[in-house]
Amino acid sequence: MKCAFCAQSTIGLVADYRPGCFGCAARSVARSGAMQISMDTSRSKAERDAAGVEVRALISRTMPHMPYADARAEVLTWWDVDEPMRQAARAA
Ligand SMILES: [Zn+2]
Repeated sequence: MKCAFCAQSTIGLVADYRPGCFGCAARSVARSGAMQISMDTSRSKAERDAAGVEVRALISRTMPHMPYADARAEVLTWWDVDEPMRQAARAA
């Protein structure tokens, strides 16, 4: 979480991304449809596993120079930042 867009995203669902920013790349993966499916416990294991493979491919494509574990951790950090705000927005 480095650039101004990332900083703003910690307090709201900012939809701007800076090319080359690791936080922005991870944030974009965290907000992908595949990530939503892989984290959705109401889905079947097969669906979630297939989406997980897609998330892994997205991580490799958007953050090719980061160790996978570090990139995945950053994606999950953004998921944890966004999810409470999404839930609040849905409840409103
Ligand atoms: Zn950023």
